[in-house]
Formats: sequence, structure tokens, C-alpha cells
Amino acid sequence: MTEFDGMEVGYDIPALPGMSEAEIQTPCLVLDLDALERNIKKMGDYAKAHGMRHRVHGKMHKSVDVAQLQVDLGGACGVCCQKVSEAEVFARGGIKDVLVSNQVREPQKIDRLARMPKLGARTICCVDDVDNVADLSAAAQKHGTEIECLVEIDCGAGRCGVTTTEDVVRIAKAIDAAPGLKFAGIQAYQGAMQHLDSYDERKAKIDVAVAMVQDAVDGLKAEGLECDIVGGGGTGSYYFESNSGVYNELQCGSYAFMDADYGRILDKDGNRIDRGEWENALFILTSVMSHAKADKAIVDAGLKAQSVDSGLPVIFGRDDVQYVKCSDEHGVVADPDGVLSVNDKLKLVPGHCDPTCNVHDWYVGLRNGVVETVWPVSARGKAY
Ligand code: PLP
Ligand code: MN
Repeated sequence: MTEFDGMEVGYDIPALPGMSEAEIQTPCLVLDLDALERNIKKMGDYAKAHGMRHRVHGKMHKSVDVAQLQVDLGGACGVCCQKVSEAEVFARGGIKDVLVSNQVREPQKIDRLARMPKLGARTICCVDDVDNVADLSAAAQKHGTEIECLVEIDCGAGRCGVTTTEDVVRIAKAIDAAPGLKFAGIQAYQGAMQHLDSYDERKAKIDVAVAMVQDAVDGLKAEGLECDIVGGGGTGSYYFESNSGVYNELQCGSYAFMDADYGRILDKDGNRIDRGEWENALFILTSVMSHAKADKAIVDAGLKAQSVDSGLPVIFGRDDVQYVKCSDEHGVVADPDGVLSVNDKLKLVPGHCDPTCNVHDWYVGLRNGVVETVWPVSARGKAY
């Protein structure tokens, strides 16, 4: 018996282990396992060498298998996720340390969060409003569990989080005094700068964040409150937080898979980060289904196979053909020299990895042209 018994390739699942790359049914997500493992190991080694923990962001891949690889191979201390339902998937899947890097406010969701420790996972969430503290505390007491809380600082992203040390201290004190809750530290993720092209511009934004976080940590210390976790950092900034002297936990997500939009940003030497720092490990495998016009090929990956919020996908390893347009179920590939034929397969690097992964059920893991693994996108659609 395997977990794939009774599954029909093409209907239930795009491929099975042992198949050749040519047999995979498209469109589907494929992972270059060698590239993925190198990315995971590299970030893990970097974090370790800089004395940082790495709490990988699981909202990117929504996969228990990828998260477990990040723990085993990359030394990750646990995962972040954005939603309680996602957190439940990781906790049920055996991840032992789960941060909902977000606010949990609906009573039903608070109740589910409070039950999560019973699944065997350390459970942490973010708080930016003292009113939330009493609700979290009541739910933890009701279930006889403990929820750890980080005070979220808005250090420039302009979404959740408080902006003054005074507010951080006020909320932290309330958490510290609340039965069933434990004050665990700070989250300060600067989400608005990660995709800026220029390294120096990104650094300038993080310098502001670091100053805010340092002030908050000092303010908390003055009140006798120590931060176990000072977390933040993404693929476009992790080196700044790692060298800040104040953060101790990274939360990178996209580095593991990479995407076309992130790949374009520049490192400190002016090189694109997908040309050396990180490798493309995630692709949408697509097939040519029509070439009725001499200069264009129509492929089977359109809008429903990807998110184009950050731009169209890029065809991996080729500059003779270009993905130029998409509609629901069609992708238009400019083929000026007519080099493509019906049933040719192309690997697309998605514009934005996170929302692309969320519209697929499976990752087909490839090594040396053979399907080695097929992993479910375990938390696919878990947006509540
Ligand atoms: N931390 C938080 C709170 C996030 O929202 C995100 C992504 O948006 C990340 C970390 C990971 O960022 P990245 O994919 O840029 O590595
Ligand atoms: Mn993203």
C-alpha cells in the first residue's frame, strides 16, 4: 500500500514516483529537488553561521513535506504561517513549533488556536491590540493550554502592528499578566521593502526597522520583559536582520522556490538574486496544445495555473520564446522563429510563488529527469 494507491494519473494526480519527466501530465507544479535542497541548505547554513534561528515561512509552499525538509536539512526551528487553518495543517503534520505571524481575532479562530497545543505544537501568534489579549487568555484557560504571544511592530509595511515602544510595552505587559498566555517577544517584518531592486534602498528601510526594534527591546528590558523571539526578515533582507545585533529569528519563505519577480532584485554586487544567490526550484510545467499560428504557441497553463499579480511567468532556460499573455486556461507564447511544436513541454518560472502554489494540489519532485516524490500542497486553499 502506498498513499497513491487507487489514484489515476491525470485525474487525481499529475504523476507518480518513478515516472519520467515526459510522462507528467500538465499543467502542474514541478520541483527541481537538487536546487530546492541546495537553497534550503544554504539558508540554513547562513542562519546558523550568524547565530540566528530560522522559522521558515510556510505560507509560501503550504507543504508539510517541504517544511519538514527545511527542518531536517536546513535546521529550521519551526514554521510561520498566516492563517489558523494553515497552522493546524502544519501542527497535524508533525511540525512542533508554529507561529501564526498574524493577528487572530475572530472568536472561533481564537478557540482553534487555543486548541493547537493539544496537537503537540508550541503555538505562537502576533498581537497588536490589548483588547485581543483578554480573548486569547480566556480561550487558552478554557482549553488548559498556553498561547505564546509576540507583539507585532509595524516597521514600515503599513499593515498590522503598533508603531511606538510605548504601545509595545503596554501590550507586552498585558500579555505577561494574562493567565494562559506567555509573552515571547516581538515580530517586526518589513514586507514593503523586500522586492525593492536596490540593495542600498532595502538596507535603508531595514535600518529604520532595526532602530525601532532596538528601542522596543530596550523599553521592554527596562520593564523586566525579555524577548525570547525577535523575529522578521525575508528573502530580500535576511542578511540585514542577521547582522543587526537585535533580531534573533528569520522568517524567509520565497528563497526556497524563488520566482521571477523576486529573482529580479539585486544583491550587494548588483547581481540578480536568481543568478547565484538562489536557484529556481519551482516551475509550472506546461505543454504546447496548439500552434495554429506560425508565430505563437498556445500552452495549457493560463490564469488558473498561476498568479500573475507580480508579472507574467518567464520561460526557464530559453530566450527564443516568451510567455506574453494569458487568459483563464490558455497561455500565449511568442515563437517568432516557429521553434516549438505541439506537445513540447516548457518550464515556467512563476511571477509570484506563494499565490501560484495555492492553486495547485501537488508538487511533482524531479531529480535527473525522474519523478522522485509527489507531495500534496497540504494547506492549499487554507485561507481561513
Ligand atoms: N514574514 C512575514 C510576516 C511575511 O508576511 C512574509 C511574506 O510575505 C515573510 C516573512 C517571508 O517573506 P519572503 O517570501 O520574502 O522570504
Ligand atoms: Mn510572496
